[in-house]
Amino acid sequence: MMLAAELALAEVDVAVVERRPDHVLVGSRAGGFHSRTIEILDQRGVADRFLAEGKTAQAAMLAATVLDMGDFPTRHPYSLGIWQNQIERIMAAWIAELPVRIYYGSEVTGFAQDDAGVDVELSEEGSLRARYLVGCDGGRSVIRKAASIEFPGWDPTRSNLIAEVETTEEPPRGIRHDATGIHALNTMEDGKTVRVIVTERELGPSSEPTLRDLSEALIAVYDTDFGVHHPTWISRFTDMTRQAATYREGRVLLAGDSAHVHYPAGGQGLSLGVGDAVNLGWKLAQVVNGFSPESLLDTYQEERHPVAARAIQHTMAQAALQRRDERMQALVDVVSELAVMDEPRKRLAGLISGLDIRYDLGEGHPLLGRRMPDLDLLTAAGPLRVFELLHDAKPVLLNLGEPRDFDIAPWANRVQLIDASYEGEWELPVLGAVTAPTAVLIRPDGYVAWVEDGADAGLLDALTTWFGAPTMALRNG
Ligand SMILES: Cc1cc2nc3c(=O)[nH]c(=O)nc-3n(C[C@H](O)[C@H](O)[C@H](O)COP(=O)(O)OP(=O)(O)OC[C@H]3O[C@@H](n4cnc5c(N)ncnc54)[C@H](O)[C@@H]3O)c2cc1C
Repeated sequence: MMLAAELALAEVDVAVVERRPDHVLVGSRAGGFHSRTIEILDQRGVADRFLAEGKTAQAAMLAATVLDMGDFPTRHPYSLGIWQNQIERIMAAWIAELPVRIYYGSEVTGFAQDDAGVDVELSEEGSLRARYLVGCDGGRSVIRKAASIEFPGWDPTRSNLIAEVETTEEPPRGIRHDATGIHALNTMEDGKTVRVIVTERELGPSSEPTLRDLSEALIAVYDTDFGVHHPTWISRFTDMTRQAATYREGRVLLAGDSAHVHYPAGGQGLSLGVGDAVNLGWKLAQVVNGFSPESLLDTYQEERHPVAARAIQHTMAQAALQRRDERMQALVDVVSELAVMDEPRKRLAGLISGLDIRYDLGEGHPLLGRRMPDLDLLTAAGPLRVFELLHDAKPVLLNLGEPRDFDIAPWANRVQLIDASYEGEWELPVLGAVTAPTAVLIRPDGYVAWVEDGADAGLLDALTTWFGAPTMALRNG
């Protein structure tokens, strides 16, 4: 849905094929997302919709340690607790306001690609012809498999049951750890449904779990199943960890869980998917709209593969720390002692929150390749936040020096040139204070593509790299 929104904002004809009959998600699933994802939604002007339904909290954690990021230089120095079924409802309402077609109740069964496009086979309604196909179809992605994209990684060693049930006995609320892993019992908002997460003693099968499986797993941990009944949702997840060898095969790309799966410890899966979508959306739009060559799509893999690889490594460490026999508890204690110290706290929170992401755009000012901070600017039209300039997903050339003419004629119809002043400090998450630039070029995903730090060398190169060669830009403008 995030990718569909990005493409629609860039005026690309986009359709979503979803096998579910509607956007309603049975079961709560993920419990929220972290700071950078809130910022990304803020960049599109929709963060408030999510903030209004969720609860902000310090929820970036390592083992038992909360990594308080209250002092991070962001407008959102926290995580947001909000269930995935709420997130998907809000997202669906947002894309309903945009020109996005959705084929609900339709399953992609395969595809055939040629030089000009992709024929997407559907279980209902025959097929669809598209210039590009993006597999956002989850960890078991049919599209990834049909594209023969390898999915190397680690087989599962541990499984958890997750469920929403009623109980006859009052269960103890909260989290428990033992040698197998983590278990948690919590009452949901309606006051009677209990959300259960329990690690199974043995790795469970890939078949659908039953109430009996849940009951047995609870008895193994708590000596009682609390009289679980009336499940509205039971599911199983594992610590299987894999990442697609390539995110693109010709006209077929992967984003979200179809490109990477991992244990949910740390709560980063959904945020990684949103980050993929926002990185890919404007690039794909540039190519489809004829402004940029196809090679721009290669930067999607170059930028996003390392981000997921790092997050995946972190989830494996997190998952290991959840197993708490006495030896592991000793390790957890050592790690916890370190994690609250300033430097490790900032580094770990920077990673989990997604605020420390730096795409490799070469040497230069520390802002290059990093997220543009949401500064309070002063413009001729009055005060303005940087993120407000990104609502339409269009690039911004922000001039913070004396008002002057930049020679950007070939891109002038797409790149917004804004003269503004900013009085405050320049501070980046984890890095700290940096020198104030006199101008920056901000990509639609909010990452800085060029920084003027004294001389304006390199602006035309950056515009060409990211927004197309002057001839292409003029021809299609
Ligand atoms: C217990 C648990 C807790 C989690 N907690 C968090 C958390 O707190 N924070 C976080 O960020 N992440 C969390 N995650 C991870 C998060 O849920 C996933 O990373 C996220 O849902 C991935 O989104 P996605 O859109 O890539 O894939 P999915 O959510 O799997 O969506 C794929 C969609 O494609 C559809 N589909 C699949 N195949 C086809 C097909 N062939 N044709 C048509 N449609 C198809 C599906 O119906 C589905 O709607 C958690 C996961 C679990 C299991």
